[in-house]
Amino acid sequence: MTSEGVAYERRSAAPVIAPVRPRKLAKVPFVELAEGRLQGVVSSGSDVERVYVSSITSGDHGLSCNTNNNRPCGGLGGGTYACNHLRALADAAVAQYGLDRVSRYLKATLPDDSDNLWAGLHTTTAPNRAAEVFSGFLRHLAYLEVPPTSDPLPELHWFPAAGAVR
Ligand SMILES: [Zn+2]
Repeated sequence: MTSEGVAYERRSAAPVIAPVRPRKLAKVPFVELAEGRLQGVVSSGSDVERVYVSSITSGDHGLSCNTNNNRPCGGLGGGTYACNHLRALADAAVAQYGLDRVSRYLKATLPDDSDNLWAGLHTTTAPNRAAEVFSGFLRHLAYLEVPPTSDPLPELHWFPAAGAVR
């Protein structure tokens, strides 16, 4: 068997869910609806070494945002007003899954004709889940099993080294 054959089989086994509309993977490399949360990883706007791990719980809309080093997000402050990372995460989720699915998952009731997820969220603070969510992100990367290929790997654009491979 050629190495190309192996790479092809690995690629074809990876789960590919087409987003509802294109989203900015460099900004939000990982987003999922899992474990009763909308959760994901958001790039820092200013520091390429840092990412934020953000989540919103289903039902009580508890907000959590911490760096990958487990420092609390300064932007989240008191905890009930969403920081830019949580807003980017919500935007990415809506792009990935569609507003209906995201609002249903979070048990958010949007006002009639509203296309703003935040209008349906009654936010509160949630315990820090950064370690769990970040390990989910790392499992997600491992699952991709990145074969040597020149194809674009959108999930890895966040990593400067992977983005440079051509
Ligand atoms: Zn934040």
